[in-house]
Amino acid sequence: MPSDPRSLLNEQLRGRKVKKLYRRRLTLETPQSTRVSVAGREYLAFCSNDYLALANHPGLIEAACEGAMRYGVGAGASHLISGHSSAHHELEDALARFVGFPRALLFSTGYMANAGVVTALAGRTDAIFADKLNHASLNDAALASRAKFLRYPHLDLPVLERQLTASQARRKLVITDAVFSMDGDIAPVASLLALCDKYDAWLVLDDAHGFGVLGGQGRGTLAHFNIRSQRIIYMATLGKAAGVFGAFVAASADVVETLIQEARSYIYTTAAPPLLSHVLLKSLDLIKSEAWRRQKLTQHTIALKQELQSLRWKLLPSETPVQPLIIGENDKALRISEALRQQGILVPAIRPPTVRQGTARLRISLSAAHTAEDIIRLGSALRGLGSVP
Ligand SMILES: *Cc1c(COP(=O)(O)O)cnc(C)c1O
Repeated sequence: MPSDPRSLLNEQLRGRKVKKLYRRRLTLETPQSTRVSVAGREYLAFCSNDYLALANHPGLIEAACEGAMRYGVGAGASHLISGHSSAHHELEDALARFVGFPRALLFSTGYMANAGVVTALAGRTDAIFADKLNHASLNDAALASRAKFLRYPHLDLPVLERQLTASQARRKLVITDAVFSMDGDIAPVASLLALCDKYDAWLVLDDAHGFGVLGGQGRGTLAHFNIRSQRIIYMATLGKAAGVFGAFVAASADVVETLIQEARSYIYTTAAPPLLSHVLLKSLDLIKSEAWRRQKLTQHTIALKQELQSLRWKLLPSETPVQPLIIGENDKALRISEALRQQGILVPAIRPPTVRQGTARLRISLSAAHTAEDIIRLGSALRGLGSVP
């Protein structure tokens, strides 16, 4: 009997539902903000990566209109054919200066930037060393590169050093989130860099959640630690704190030139609309000049810890706006997220495989647009749910 190829899919989908791993999308009817409307109801939201509340900033909306008038809406070609615009070029220069590297290169997304960097710099004869809690895009990139792929337990530098010592690879890449996206903790960059110096490895840092948030003027995790090195390949995204879309890699000139020549996710894709670069130049100005946005985040982080200290669920120790409340079982994390939603508060439940089995969590993310009252409201709602079985 011919079998229906869809029956296998349906079995898989049912399996997800049974394991409480079925994912559903929210459909927002309003711009990204701390107040969003879903199915006609307004919610207080703690679920975006729009940490600095720039995604719906009037000055950036104005810059988008101006950018469209000046550059049109589409790039029309890849960067290497004829899609590279003066807006892209100006943004690359500004980003390189901002994060303190000789050059920067724009990618359409962070996912593509990681794919491009890792596959351009590592191949069959090379080795990649990766923190176990790295973002999925770094893992996918490592697998696609066909290099030997070694993962070390989260922040376990002694294990990393043993792996580096044992490696005979021609080229070595240590790749890590700078701020871990689901835990909110910061990688010990100085110690990682010391190991990379000792074993002659590249250090690839993914600062998707540190750029704009950490360091003086929001210059990111390297500024936070006051570290500079040409051994570092720095990646950050522009759709999180920067409020728009895209990503960039900053590094020495020879690395950037190699990416232009070799990174397939840079070469074989249409350039992002130049109007976005125009908006991002303005966003960069706001990131630099409006320190109050980062001060708000710090205040909210402190307030949230106080609000939640009597709960039986614990926040992970994080000094960033990513504040995960560990629940444990998938089912329970979902039920708490759902109970909050019934009270008009959105906090996503994050489950495996995004996080380890048994560490399902509410990922509370804070925004400069939250108010002190918002944090209190979330705190009392969670305390009220403390008896959920
Ligand atoms: C979001 C994220 C990415 C992907 O960036 P996009 O621009 O959304 O594709 C990569 N790395 C980390 C750590 C992230 O959090």
